[in-house]
Parts: sequence; structure tokens; C-alpha cells
Amino acid sequence: MTSTNSVHEGPIIAQKDNLQVMDCSICGYAHLYPLPDEEALFRLYEQDEFYNDAFLQTHLQEHQQGWWNSKARWYLHLLRNDGMPHLLDIGAGLGWLLKYWRQRYGQTGHGIEPSLRARNMAKGNGVGDLFISLHGYRQYCGEYFPPMGIDSVACLLLLEHVLDPKQFLREIAALGLGNEGKILLSVPNDINPLQASVKGDKSWFVQAPHVNYFTKQSFRALVESCGLEVVEEASTFPMEVFIHLGLDYRNNPQLGHKLHRFRLHFEKLLGINAYRIYQWLYRRYGIGRENIIVAQWR
Ligand SMILES: [Zn+2]
Repeated sequence: MTSTNSVHEGPIIAQKDNLQVMDCSICGYAHLYPLPDEEALFRLYEQDEFYNDAFLQTHLQEHQQGWWNSKARWYLHLLRNDGMPHLLDIGAGLGWLLKYWRQRYGQTGHGIEPSLRARNMAKGNGVGDLFISLHGYRQYCGEYFPPMGIDSVACLLLLEHVLDPKQFLREIAALGLGNEGKILLSVPNDINPLQASVKGDKSWFVQAPHVNYFTKQSFRALVESCGLEVVEEASTFPMEVFIHLGLDYRNNPQLGHKLHRFRLHFEKLLGINAYRIYQWLYRRYGIGRENIIVAQWR
């Protein structure tokens, strides 16, 4: 059963503008209902309407100034690879993880990023060539696909965007990069206990580019249904805490940016210990802005 089948059943749990989110019992996770048109989704990414220059510039500066180093270190810690690992980053964006990876292991790895704008900026940032799609990468490797050397795959903040996350994840799982290979996945942790208990608008997180909405449980179930074994769960800063403290950023982008910087300062100060705290909160209370899973091929 795939999410693109026409049969979907379940209650509508969030609504914003003309978008509705259904907690679908057929798919096992919440998604937009009706599902968006495949053509429209294709245009958004392939024709580069998703990222704008200001967004990418801000992120590039943050990465260059080292604000994301704690997060990168934490991801390397989660993947725990003591050899000379190669990374395939699917949805690489500006290639920040690949760059950090190269600094740590001396290996470039490979990245896949459909946005031309992001690929160009990554190249200017010294990341090297990113491929436009998994298909393009497969063509590049030819008979050497899947490459023997790659034993770590990252797929960060991507599965919420695709029309059929199960099929997408099965494609990645089918790479079969060996028993020791690990895959690092993340998606937003929507409808988590902190988010559910805020007063006022509870649907602010709904946005057209996000087709799918996962909880801690539904994300783990999705990963396991694709033949992968979960070996680690983690999360990021529980941003909704600010709303509970009266710092309501929901319709206030300026405040949202300030709080984002606060979070980055906190992480720079504490290093990966900040992420140990997030992991503890996530394991115990299911809160944190993202669901992060490290899985292994069975
Ligand atoms: Zn469904």
C-alpha cells in the first residue's frame, strides 16, 4: 500500500488556509488531504521555487560561522563510524554535513540536491558537485552502483516533502550498503505533546511543501515498515517551549529569528551535550522539534 493510492481514511487533525491534514490509518501517518498534485510538487523542487536566496544566504552564513558544528558533531556521533566512512547525503541542501564530514574524515562523500540554486551555492562554498537526483547519481556510478565505499546515508528533513515516503525510503533501503551501513533520518516532530498543549492556533506548522506530518511513533513505524532496524532515536531543541513561556513566535518572524539565534548560541555553548539533553527529553517525553532516527539495514 502506498500513500498515493486514492484510499485514505482518518480524522482531519489540522487545517490552515486551504490545507487539511488527515491522520491516515491506511498510510499509518498524517498527510495532506487531498494529497498534492505530483506535477505541482515536481515544479516546486525541480524548477527551484522552494529555496529563495535570502534563506540560503542566512544558512550559508550560519554554517560558515560554525553555528551548526555542534549539530554536525552530534550526527557524526550518532553514526559512530570509526573507519574511513563515505557519506551519501540525500537532500544535501548547501552540503554543510558533507563539508563537515570531509573536515573530520578527509573524505568528500556524495550529495544529492534537486535545487540548482542550492547546488550552485554549495559549489561556491567548496563542497564539490552535488547530483540532481538519485537517478542522476546512479547514472554517474554506472556499473559501480551502489558504490562499495559508501556506508553512511543521511536523509535529513526530506521525507516530509515527498508524496510517497514509504517508496522513497524503500529505494534508499534497497541500496543495501552492507550490514554495517547506517542511515540517519530526520523529519519534523509534529503534533508532539508540547505542540498539542499550546493555546490558540494549533495548526501553524501546516505548510504546502510539507506533505507528511510525523509523530515519534508514526515515524518509527514507517522506518521499520521499510525493512530497517532502528538503533538510535534523538531530537532537536523543543522550540514550542518558547510559546509556553510567552514568547509566541507563531505569527512573529522577527521574534522567531531571535529565538532561533538563541537556540544556536545555546548549542554553541554546550556542544553536543545540548543534543544529549534533547535526546533525554525526547526519549522521556516525546518532545523536540524533530524526530531523528539512526537505522541499519536488516
Ligand atoms: Zn493515507
